[in-house]
Amino acid sequence: MKIAAVRTHLLEHRLEVPFESASMRFDRRAHVLVEVECDDGTVGWGECLGPARPNAAVVRTYADWLIGQNPLETGKIWAKLYNALRDQGQRGLTITALSGIDIALWDIKGKALGQPVSVLLGGRWREKVRAYATGSFKRDGVDRVQDNAEEMAGHRAQGFHACKIKIGFGVAEDLRVIRAVRAAIGPDMRLMIDANHGYTMAEAIRLGQAAAELEIDWFEEPVVPEQLSAYRAVREGQPIPVAGGETWHSRWGMWPAIEGRAVDILQPDLCGVGGFSEAQNIMALASLHGIRVVPHVWGTGVQIAAALQFMAAMVPDPVRLHPVEPILEFDRTHNPFRQAVLQTPIEAVQGVVAIPDGPGLGIEVNRDALREYRMAEA
Ligand SMILES: [Mg+2]
Repeated sequence: MKIAAVRTHLLEHRLEVPFESASMRFDRRAHVLVEVECDDGTVGWGECLGPARPNAAVVRTYADWLIGQNPLETGKIWAKLYNALRDQGQRGLTITALSGIDIALWDIKGKALGQPVSVLLGGRWREKVRAYATGSFKRDGVDRVQDNAEEMAGHRAQGFHACKIKIGFGVAEDLRVIRAVRAAIGPDMRLMIDANHGYTMAEAIRLGQAAAELEIDWFEEPVVPEQLSAYRAVREGQPIPVAGGETWHSRWGMWPAIEGRAVDILQPDLCGVGGFSEAQNIMALASLHGIRVVPHVWGTGVQIAAALQFMAAMVPDPVRLHPVEPILEFDRTHNPFRQAVLQTPIEAVQGVVAIPDGPGLGIEVNRDALREYRMAEA
């Protein structure tokens, strides 16, 4: 079995109503899928986190080396590709592109062996996970306080046990939003806040101190990801557990935050951190320090499927009769191709998502959707 072709599929949808996080404005949704085809016709799918065109360019750079390789040798291929761009690329696009390739190779490995990736990673601890709804970006032309409260109440009505809202637009306004959302969802639904590294250290501490009484499960990306000492100061200066990790890549990118106890909750993204191969290493590092892992998810159904396979195989820490279960980040913002790229879209039913148990990622990609949402000039 040899790799015969590597293709990228750039997808895009222009939004009628643009939205913003604290650090980024979205006027479109764009993602890139990676397709690896073998000489026996087996096809594997992966996805890269982050900007589609630059990721695709790096995937194509790696592709020259991939042709003719044995796709089952995932560890060897990972190390060779990493080494190929190591001197100029220890984090960022070199790793997010490598992630898409690694996920596609594990999909192939699962199909070749007739097993879901989760079994190959060590075994399925669970057949379903509870999802939490991510949304509440700042939308143009609406009152953010009312908009967020109504949206989160809607997620509660659909059965979600938890939701995450976007902050980082100013401490006073953010506190009004958090209070309104807590009032709208009631006392029992879990609530997380995500600043998308939009605060200064002092603002984050002030926000956390004031918001803690509203029962917040975690405070995500309070400050920019390079400032690990500021992360630690936020942990020490306010009572809400601190989460982060969606922009830290590879075991070397994660280790300083783990070893330095910058976070209570680590959020590796399968499509950013280096795929299944590297996410396993990061799980091992996190377990050394008892840090909870909750994967970050922001992409299409391919990415959701990869996250689900990984989450199925996450070993409870500690193993006990009623363990702390992982929860799936389930993006609820507008993106018509998120679900359309799969023949059988992955949906939440009363806030619970079944983990596919077919070979590989357990999905079939809908090529009609790839054509329909193909990025212009892709
Ligand atoms: Mg986030």
